[in-house]
Amino acid sequence: PRLPSPSEIYQPQRANSKGVEFGDRQALAALRGSIAAARGPFMARPAGGATKVRAVTSPVDGAAVGEVAETEEAAIRDMMAAAARAFPSWNRTGVEARAGILKRAADLLEARRGVFLALLQIEAGKTLDDALAELREAADMCRYYAGQARLAGAEIRLPGPTGEDNRLRYEGRGVFVCISPWNFPLAIFLGQVAAALVTGNAVVAKPAEQTPLIAAQAVALLHEAGVPRAALQLAPGAGNIGAALVADPRTAGVVFTGAVEVAQHINRALAARDGALAPLIAETGGVNAMIVDSTALIEQVVDDVLASAFRSAGQRCSALRLLCVQEDIAAVVIERLIGAAKELRIGDPRDLGVHVGPVIDADAKEKLDRHVAEARAAGRLLYCGEAPQGGCFVAPAIIRLARVGDLRQEIFGPVLHVATWRAGRFDALIEEIEAGGYGLTFGLETRIETRMQAVARSAPAGNIYINRNMIGAVVGSQPFGGFGLSGTGPKAGGPDYLRRFLREITVTTNT
Ligand code: GLU
Repeated sequence: PRLPSPSEIYQPQRANSKGVEFGDRQALAALRGSIAAARGPFMARPAGGATKVRAVTSPVDGAAVGEVAETEEAAIRDMMAAAARAFPSWNRTGVEARAGILKRAADLLEARRGVFLALLQIEAGKTLDDALAELREAADMCRYYAGQARLAGAEIRLPGPTGEDNRLRYEGRGVFVCISPWNFPLAIFLGQVAAALVTGNAVVAKPAEQTPLIAAQAVALLHEAGVPRAALQLAPGAGNIGAALVADPRTAGVVFTGAVEVAQHINRALAARDGALAPLIAETGGVNAMIVDSTALIEQVVDDVLASAFRSAGQRCSALRLLCVQEDIAAVVIERLIGAAKELRIGDPRDLGVHVGPVIDADAKEKLDRHVAEARAAGRLLYCGEAPQGGCFVAPAIIRLARVGDLRQEIFGPVLHVATWRAGRFDALIEEIEAGGYGLTFGLETRIETRMQAVARSAPAGNIYINRNMIGAVVGSQPFGGFGLSGTGPKAGGPDYLRRFLREITVTTNT
């Protein structure tokens, strides 16, 4: 086959999916109509044997959203065997055919947006804004990886002595296990699965326990688009199912997004297996910091902090956890932040006027409530809004820290921590942040150009945002992922992601 040029591999021809202008009444009415028309019953079942059925309830109001039959642990061997049998022929299917299936899936996703948006709202508790952004990201992932997939079909001729022909080619590794989180139950689920499939791997996918229903819809859509059933199997369930999948000797690679402790556990489990070695691609959390200096534009700071800390109820890996404000402007920044936070409405995310929906479940709410209560008891709570009763609501809170080093653990919700720093201590501040060991996102608000350059060069994070909010990385424009405790790379939605899903073969022929 013709060799793709580097620009074809790095910047495949495609456009990001279109948004909806909420000010356009007709467009908004059509969007809401599609959501209202979404009808259940919603059901998630494993490809193999199932345990008994349980209800999936909404974090918004506790209502039943649908039902899930979780995977029976004993069925995993058969599922993995079926995936391993499906692998060779799927791997031999041309790259163009597999990419075509992903593009069809993206089109179907947009055509059926109502069902996906409805589930993002009721199963995952997302506002319409967030749900739509996630649907678009999911479609973008499919189209972007479809464009990048040329790599998997490339056969590259390499130099060598006369009489020898050297070729490098890429193909799938085997069965990939995809373990995804509840905070992006569509975009990250589909991103992992699409990347593994388009590179020729068979997939067994374990969605988060809290969000199996939307995963089941996504799998059905991929099957409809043309992925063979045995090449993509759903395995809903709890951590024991993930552990059994990782331990299976046929697992040729694992892609995981979630807590760092779970990634470390998967690493150890892979290392303890006998037989073939398998890579882990992990994207975990962060104690993400933003530094604000006294030259920053305060209105912009308030806008960016609010979006970064409280949008999606703070349930993004990328979210701002630790705001570091230069001492001389700290009082005014905090006062304006509190003023703005008071304007946020918390409640049912299906109400268009609501900014902050629920957190994912009662456990998450309890942990966050405890964290805020401890800060209150210690006299460090600067602000806490009021959460409505009934659902898993946590009101945005702002907590003062004595030192940056007092926050070393990711608090996954709408809770912002603020520390101040003195002029002359900028470099020391960055070192203190770096000492936490995470490296996902980093924000800077300043008008000093040399400071922007210094941070761009050396801030301890995979994604650095200067004078803007630090969430919502766009596929193909802001490849996403960090290092250290934040993950292994490669970055999702970036030009190097697919390589890690591939096996490389060099053939040298004496001609
Ligand atoms: N990519 C998302 C963002 O930039 C975050 C992904 C995550 O939370 O895992 O906001």
